Amino acid sequence: MKIDFSSSSRSTRGPVLLILRWIKTLYDLIAYVLCPPLCYSCRGHCPFRVILCQQCEESLELIVPKMFQLNNSYILTVYAVSRYTEPLRPMLFAKYRSDPAVIEKLAELIWKKSVVSLVHVDCFIPIPLHWTRQVKRGFNQSQLIAQSLSNYSKIPVVDALQRVKKTEYQVKVEQVDRRCNVKGAFELAQFDFDIAGKHIMLVDDSCTTGSTAIEAAKVFIKLKPASINMVVACRAL
Ligand SMILES: [Zn+2]
Repeated sequence: MKIDFSSSSRSTRGPVLLILRWIKTLYDLIAYVLCPPLCYSCRGHCPFRVILCQQCEESLELIVPKMFQLNNSYILTVYAVSRYTEPLRPMLFAKYRSDPAVIEKLAELIWKKSVVSLVHVDCFIPIPLHWTRQVKRGFNQSQLIAQSLSNYSKIPVVDALQRVKKTEYQVKVEQVDRRCNVKGAFELAQFDFDIAGKHIMLVDDSCTTGSTAIEAAKVFIKLKPASINMVVACRAL
């Protein structure tokens, strides 16, 4: 004998779905009251949970790339979205609060607003943190940005650098001492990627004086890449 359960399950499914929908609505309402969706920059109310409100995103003042001479053969071009100002500036502090969602948004802006998507890139190389700082923070913002850029572009991330010297934050160091602060900070790591003849793109969240960018870029000169460039969200200079 065959028993048909389908009609009874159909009759109970309706009320169960209705209750679940009420619970979801109640949860959203409580979340909205306790933790309203605010723009990360202007702190204005947003209709949805977004990092930047539409006004702030539209207020971004895009900038052209800046170049630094590394030696007679190499020029480092630093691509950025905007200067170290609103609305991106507060988002850079998210790394100190271990807020990877904001870092992901920075990566999205880098990909969509800077010209890096138009540049020939063979691999993204994140600027590493000293291991003590990475343990404390729980993640490396440059690594997250590089991984997001890789997801957009399908270009690989190569962890080719290691930070062998614990440096002071560049923003806390006097302008004249910043070169000394990062001198000898980076070395090549163990990695499985042939850099020779490739277009490599270093990745960081910001570039203040360019000292970190130059110091990291110089490590790769001996491997004879086709070009050494860098992409960041904000550039101070
Ligand atoms: Zn805003």
